Amino acid sequence: MKTIDSPSETVQASGSIPAAPGSSRTIIVKEFDFFKVVQDYLDRAARTINLQDYVRTILSEPKNEIIVNFPVKMDGGEVRLFKGYRVQHNNLLGPFKGGIRFHPSVTLDDVKALAAMMTWKSALMRIPFGGGKGGVKFDPHTVSRDELQRITRRFTHALSENIGPEYDIPAPDLGTNSQTMAWMMDTYSNMVGSARKQSVKGVVTGKPVASGGTLGRAKATGQGAVFCAIEWAKEKSFELEGSTMAVQGFGNVGSHVAVILSRLGVSTVAVGDHSGYMVNPEGLNAHKLQDWVVDHGSIAGYPGGKAVTREDFFKQKVDIFAPCALENQIGESEARSLDCKVVLEGANGPTNPAGEKILLERGIDILPDVLVNSGGVTVSYYEWVQNKRSESWTEEEVDTKLEKAMTRAYREISDFSRQNKVDRRIAGYALALSRIEAVYKEREIFP
Ligand code: NAD
Repeated sequence: MKTIDSPSETVQASGSIPAAPGSSRTIIVKEFDFFKVVQDYLDRAARTINLQDYVRTILSEPKNEIIVNFPVKMDGGEVRLFKGYRVQHNNLLGPFKGGIRFHPSVTLDDVKALAAMMTWKSALMRIPFGGGKGGVKFDPHTVSRDELQRITRRFTHALSENIGPEYDIPAPDLGTNSQTMAWMMDTYSNMVGSARKQSVKGVVTGKPVASGGTLGRAKATGQGAVFCAIEWAKEKSFELEGSTMAVQGFGNVGSHVAVILSRLGVSTVAVGDHSGYMVNPEGLNAHKLQDWVVDHGSIAGYPGGKAVTREDFFKQKVDIFAPCALENQIGESEARSLDCKVVLEGANGPTNPAGEKILLERGIDILPDVLVNSGGVTVSYYEWVQNKRSESWTEEEVDTKLEKAMTRAYREISDFSRQNKVDRRIAGYALALSRIEAVYKEREIFP
């Protein structure tokens, strides 16, 4: 976010109020509107592969944008109205697919951006899914567990006509987890009638294993990111053992990246989350910190590190910087501060275009979100297949398939990027778009 007082500056964020010409009124705008950023990448990738114009036009907006306002009775007896979103971007390749976010910053435009990215990820990973995303605008840290359950169930109820195992399949994202998915699945299965109850487990993925989830899903996004880091290290002849890392966001994605990389000898020397930032040059114990966060809800109070400011966190000298929290975290100043060899984008949209330009000019590699965090949707697909077939695969089977899928996508992106002289992000988008375009060309436009 930045504050501007120049009325001539473009106001990009939806919902912000432009100052009247000549006015010196200060207004707050988002420096980069996430949906516009994603549309711009789409345009750049489309030009790279000469994408048919009608395909670009179709993909430039989501197919459906659903907004629901639903009441929930809070513990004190009062009724609060919540606003929820589900954006269904594209279902050409298969059912809409994508996470549900619980966060106070959720906006329709951000959900649109995230939904579009799911379309690219599914296509990039050769998964028969489309793209979708949803969210509810509230802070899950400020409600009780009972309230959280009621919010989740009412939201699922409000969406029920618009989701389904063959139509639109939610999953966990920022602020949600396997417990959220268990509540969603249970609510949905209670709404479809007894005869269909057992056959609709696949309405959500990322469920707890005992409730129809798959082994390996909890860590899948982090695991996929680590497979990318391994491929990058091979490509650069870089020794991961003995190297260092900073992680922003120590939730599902960030903590698993840190834990799995620690087994390969990578030491996490700096971490941060919504509660603050800390460093330890000797290395933080990723396992213990992960347990701490599960017990305490954040890294705050963890005894193994020294508190630093966000600014200092971004200045730490490390080999790998892994943003695994929110979008728009690496802007111009963070990109100038970063002292690392590679940015491993576990989060969606963590680097804004101004930050990206500086990182690339400084020779810092960026492994883009569209690739790095696609292990989540990939293993979600494995879960959905197991639900359909009433199977349960071993963790080894899941990990082996994921490794093959991530490695293939990594290499395809590297090759495309070298051959077409574009960065890895545009390469990822271009590969995804060319696969979607091939299907539009075959099926053509109805009627
Ligand atoms: P999570 O809720 O488990 O963890 C989010 C982390 O970000 C927490 O540590 C939280 O404290 C931190 N955070 C929140 N606000 C912050 C702020 N203002 N500053 C610093 N840190 C902040 O969520 P997650 O599932 O790990 O998702 C993280 C990112 O990864 C999101 O961008 C999400 O879209 C993306 N992602 C997640 C998955 C998945 O499978 N969970 C898959 C693909 C992409």
